[in-house]
Amino acid sequence: MTETRDPAWVATTGDREPVNLRMDLPHTARMYDYYLGGKDNFPADREAAEQVIAAFPNARVTARENRAFMTRATRFLAGEVGIRQFLDIGTGIPTSPNLHEIAQGLAPDTRVVYVDNDPIVLTHARALLTSTPQGRTAYLDADLRDPDGIRAAPQLHSTLDLTRPIALSVVAIFHFIPDADDPYGIVRRLLDALPSGSYLVLTHGTGDYDPDAERAAEAYRQKGMSVQPRSRSEVERFFDGLELVDPGVQVVHRWRADGSAVEELTDARVSIYGGVARKP
Ligand code: SAH
Repeated sequence: MTETRDPAWVATTGDREPVNLRMDLPHTARMYDYYLGGKDNFPADREAAEQVIAAFPNARVTARENRAFMTRATRFLAGEVGIRQFLDIGTGIPTSPNLHEIAQGLAPDTRVVYVDNDPIVLTHARALLTSTPQGRTAYLDADLRDPDGIRAAPQLHSTLDLTRPIALSVVAIFHFIPDADDPYGIVRRLLDALPSGSYLVLTHGTGDYDPDAERAAEAYRQKGMSVQPRSRSEVERFFDGLELVDPGVQVVHRWRADGSAVEELTDARVSIYGGVARKP
């Protein structure tokens, strides 16, 4: 007899116990997938996402522009700076093009370690492990709030050479980390493990331009997800001690725009900061 299991349960990698996808509760990764027009979301995610959109009608614009920033920043690092290793934490459900596809399109020998703590992302990890033969990708099921666990992970050390520059990519994740979890300390701890010439790529939601962005955060909180939009100076603080690349911390559509925007964008509509900086 073949074993049947509720489809909400999925096997994890390694020897860990299967995990429950909790389709009855909204998840940030699946809500983000919904904003981007993806199909990997369930009714509870769509309902919560629609409540966010009701509070902040530009949520889809924010998600799309955030993703476009990730593409430009990755191209910049792989193409102009010559970075060949990426540590991407808060990867999200695979969305084409994924980071390794962008970087390996420019430099096929690029190595990428993806990290997320959401079981739904884990179930899709195969789509992230489609490396070029010259490069390599790995997936790590871990939590950003445990930087020491990430630093010690065998997948990290078997995939990346920690004596050579690495881009730490934390895109649209730190607004889920409240002050109580010491977000700035987490970034320091991770960057401390990387050599000089490494980079930080970070985006972060803000209420600086549209009060509705704070209402969106409230909609998440009502569903039990902690969200903390931060001001420009709070976002800039993540880059303390690093050399910001031009044009510094900007609302993402202003960061090295490539003219591909399909509609008129304003700081209020986009409402997410992004920046790239080098570790001296
Ligand atoms: N970086 C992608 C996806 C952003 S969505 C992009 O910008 O396109 C945010 C992702 O962060 C989700 O996949 C969510 O599961 C993940 N995430 C949130 N909190 C996390 C944590 N504490 N540890 C690891 N991943 C986390």
